[in-house]
Amino acid sequence: MRYSQYYIPTLREIPSEAELASHKLMLRAGLIRKAAAGIYSFLPLAQRVLKKITRIVEEEMDRAGGMQVLLPIVQPAEIWKQSGRWEVYGDEMFRLRDRHRRDFCLGPTHEEMITTLIKNEVRSYRELPLRIYQIQNKYRDEIRPRFGVMRAREFIMKDLYSFDRDEEGLNRSYQAMYEAYERIFTRCGLIFRAVEADSGAIGGDVSHEFMVLAPSGEAVIVYCEACDYAANNEKASAALPPAATEGLLPLEKVATPNQATVPAVTAFLGVTPDRLIKTLFYQTAEEYIAVLVRGDDELNEIKLGNLLNKPYRFAPPEELAVKLDLPVGYVGPVGLKEKGVKVLADLRIKTMSNAVCGANVKDYHLRHVNLERDFAVDTFADLRLAKAGDLCPHCGHTLAETRGVEVGHIFKLGTKYSKVLEATFRDEDGEEKPFIMGCYGIGISRIVAAAIEQNNDQDGIKWPLPIAPFQVTILALGQEQQAAAEEIYQELTAVGVEVLYDDRDERPGVKFKDADLIGIPLRITIGPKRLAQGEVEVKNRMTGEEMLWPRTEVTSQVLACLEKMHPGKTD
Ligand code: ATP
Ligand code: MG
Repeated sequence: MRYSQYYIPTLREIPSEAELASHKLMLRAGLIRKAAAGIYSFLPLAQRVLKKITRIVEEEMDRAGGMQVLLPIVQPAEIWKQSGRWEVYGDEMFRLRDRHRRDFCLGPTHEEMITTLIKNEVRSYRELPLRIYQIQNKYRDEIRPRFGVMRAREFIMKDLYSFDRDEEGLNRSYQAMYEAYERIFTRCGLIFRAVEADSGAIGGDVSHEFMVLAPSGEAVIVYCEACDYAANNEKASAALPPAATEGLLPLEKVATPNQATVPAVTAFLGVTPDRLIKTLFYQTAEEYIAVLVRGDDELNEIKLGNLLNKPYRFAPPEELAVKLDLPVGYVGPVGLKEKGVKVLADLRIKTMSNAVCGANVKDYHLRHVNLERDFAVDTFADLRLAKAGDLCPHCGHTLAETRGVEVGHIFKLGTKYSKVLEATFRDEDGEEKPFIMGCYGIGISRIVAAAIEQNNDQDGIKWPLPIAPFQVTILALGQEQQAAAEEIYQELTAVGVEVLYDDRDERPGVKFKDADLIGIPLRITIGPKRLAQGEVEVKNRMTGEEMLWPRTEVTSQVLACLEKMHPGKTD
């Protein structure tokens, strides 16, 4: 491809609307342009990257027994009403109405659509298992679209759905997908990690996310330094510390005037935050709920939501003061049951003794508070956010934290959708049974941003070779070098190398800057001095390595170099 005839609108200035490196670079390198918040056009370079990712994903899905289809983006409300998600999806769903005033949505995901399709087509166990996928735009009216195509409102997803007879079948499908995902992200040249995940709105029990590791990633990953335990911190748990063995001291009420925060109270009373019980208030349609966590812990609202399994909201302290006579900043678990409040507690509360908590009286705390003797709990559960320094739930070694971008998510759904949508097949024993399902997503367009997030420097993008828009770029520094450059361009193109040849009438400085920004893996520079000596300069954008090659060996050297740069190859 000749640069002069290709459309790469690079920008010199740093776009002010972008926070993340990948977002800035996608705008600056002429990959995307914004149409509206979270809605983007992909320009020629980006489209080449998307195609490469798509190709890898298709190959691996087909290899894992997937069959590609294309389902409608516009979906009738009825199937969503039947599954109950017309309400559950809330404002994240783009809804529309046709001229007959019938309701539709733009598909945020396709469980309802595929399950309805299969329900009407597949009758017998003999037709199973089925693994069906598509690659298509998805629509989610994200509350905070940001980071460019990373969290967009229109984005490209690969979604595969598996239909099996039984649990063993589902396990096989899940395993096949897990392994296919590992191959996909390896083949894309990305550093990634599979982690245990919460199932969120999609539902189901077992789920893993595939994270491209990057310090700016939105997701926090908690992992063990000794064994292979790794989980999204929305899901991560930790081993419990040993229970305290102190003898119980008598309950005391102490004056703590104007000490209404954890740091203030602990400093005032000379105790560490792990000795304090924090009491947080929530509210469902039926009741007030108090949640107890240790003073040095954070509540994990995802875990709380899963436990409650119904809508809830934070209860404003001012409202509690009025309705339950609970003073802001001085609340605690003692006496709450008498006020009709339901009490939930993190498991660590069980291991505490002689704790400190608010006295439910302004300017007072209680000291030497003990479970059972002084307060009761309705339900104990793991409700805290696991963090670095905790102990691994599998092996007991220390946990650490890192960050990543979620690029894939796989779920065992079981019968969650087949039951409500009455999608059944006739099994060998003649019985009608619901399909056992799984679903498996990959954010194709998010991978583009994640790859850049993981591979960039102050000058621009450093594409991993397998998803780079071009493999080689040729820079002719002056008019006199055009002939040689043209020859090399022809030679390389003839052997199937994807070349972006910068034939523009621009200053060398401009060409170098654009080459670094666009980030093509190999750059061949043809300048007057070297060319006179029968040589060309070559730079590997990823490693920065510079080489001098004889003009006559360029083609063979390029092929050898590209071969070595493939993922999985070392040295
Ligand atoms: P997130 O937690 O980031 O919102 P999710 O759990 O909602 O993701 P899934 O429903 O599992 O995502 O979707 C499958 C994949 O689609 C995700 O792993 C991600 O790569 C991609 N994806 C999801 N939402 C977006 C979005 N708003 N923009 C771009 N890609 C997205
Ligand atoms: Mg989401």
